Amino acid sequence: MSDDPGKSPAGDASDASTPAALARAGREQRGLLVVYTGHGKGKTTAALGMVFRALGRGFRVSVVQFIKGKWKTGERTFAETIPGLEFHVMGLGFTWESDDLAKDKAAARAAWEKARQAILSGERDLVVLDELTYTFHYDFLPLDEVLATLRARPSHVHVVVTGRNAPEELVALADLVTEMVVVKHPHTQGIKAQIGVDY
Ligand code: ATP
Ligand code: MG
Repeated sequence: MSDDPGKSPAGDASDASTPAALARAGREQRGLLVVYTGHGKGKTTAALGMVFRALGRGFRVSVVQFIKGKWKTGERTFAETIPGLEFHVMGLGFTWESDDLAKDKAAARAAWEKARQAILSGERDLVVLDELTYTFHYDFLPLDEVLATLRARPSHVHVVVTGRNAPEELVALADLVTEMVVVKHPHTQGIKAQIGVDY
């Protein structure tokens, strides 16, 4: 099998075949809105798998994690070493004991501002909004505003949203929706989360 001709090495953001470059050249692009939802494991890892693939094509990628970012995860640690990948984690330094919802809401808003900029600037080919659905559940972000931003994104920008209980309106807007279903999970056998597999 021969290599695809005309492709620059992985990670080269100037690659003429990236969605942003093709859009600049006036070539019609179809950025997809992808939603990974459901109660089974695999939502975040599916999104990160797409990031891995996209980086291999020289895409410029942003990941925004809408979770309290007190603990380091494997993906966060690795992301810091990857060129072409921007990684933001919402609200460092909070504790699960904190019942200060106003602080959490402000952290969600700050994370959303990063995400909104990444989506609308057109400078990113793929933007992952990890655990975004959690912010609707807690009323941290207005769904309407998020949907309006998704609708207004440049035509080449792919967006992936993950999280349980995706709102109906988000599912309606999406091009691709996969629901992860739990068949078995080690947690129900009392097996704790495993490093490198779960975080
Ligand atoms: P992953 O990040 O492993 O792809 P996920 O994004 O689908 O998981 P989340 O709902 O974001 O799942 O949950 C995050 C954490 O909870 C992960 O450590 C994951 O392994 C664990 N988890 C996911 N699904 C279940 C489940 N059905 N029961 C127990 N723990 C789960
Ligand atoms: Mg997840």
